Amino acid sequence: MTDCLFCRMVAGEIPADVVHETELTLAFRDINPQAPTHVLVIPKDHHATAGLLVGAEPQLLAEVVAAAHAVAVQEGLATEQAPEPGYRLVFNSGPQAGQTVHHVHCHVLGGRDLGWPPG
Ligand code: 5GP
Ligand code: ZN
Repeated sequence: MTDCLFCRMVAGEIPADVVHETELTLAFRDINPQAPTHVLVIPKDHHATAGLLVGAEPQLLAEVVAAAHAVAVQEGLATEQAPEPGYRLVFNSGPQAGQTVHHVHCHVLGGRDLGWPPG
């Protein structure tokens, strides 16, 4: 999809601060970070939301979550043994959740106390 921002990042047409990459996923820093660590993990293939992705390719959603965990470990937010100090994964889906980019992305947030409930 040439009109999709994240597809264009996958294609290398728009620069991204990449922190992790697999054959099927890409992780890069959010341009407007909401926490000391704020990374977006995407499947390289275009799917609009997590719900559509899990319906079409459940294994790929699992790979996105695995990549998000790997980013958290890489960023010092967790070890393979324990989620310490901890991190949060977020998939915003649809307008009330504030989804602005319609290529599924997993926010990896950490490095500060994260309030609950979210805004
Ligand atoms: P959403 O609101 O859809 O869950 O999240 C979209 C995220 O994409 C936002 O956190 C926003 O800051 C980020 N974003 C928007 N445009 C760009 C960009 O050009 N580069 C990067 N790295 N992040 C972007
Ligand atoms: Zn896309």
